Amino acid sequence: MAVSAYDPQNIFAKILRGEIPCTKVYEDDHVLAFNDIAPQAPTHILVIPKGAYTSYDDFATNASDAEIIAYTRAIGKISAAAGVVEDGYRLIANTRDHGRQDVPHLHVHIIGGKKLGLMLP
Ligand code: C5P
Repeated sequence: MAVSAYDPQNIFAKILRGEIPCTKVYEDDHVLAFNDIAPQAPTHILVIPKGAYTSYDDFATNASDAEIIAYTRAIGKISAAAGVVEDGYRLIANTRDHGRQDVPHLHVHIIGGKKLGLMLP
């Protein structure tokens, strides 16, 4: 089955264009991070690349090395700044239908600040 093209009307694209507000926690040339609107834990941050990528596989295939380095580093820096590194946390990138991805713009959830439940399929 073919992978869907990027939809520029998805909600994170609108956040990137400033059409919808977010609570920003980090921004650089390639990355934006903001608090999840429906947090599942005391820390719940979404980290998105500014480029138009639907998923991690799309990003890893099509992004420049500079974008990939910036995104990877930002996830680590934001986790540290959020204060979850010592006790531990979870990174999640839900992907497409089976992964139950709601918003078709790549995002990594940083979730922590409490002991999380077991993740079962
Ligand atoms: O991984 P998935 O696509 O299911 O997650 C999308 C996430 O985006 C949800 O956790 C939802 O609460 C969050 N969201 C948000 N701000 C919006 C719309 C969705 O933080 N305006």
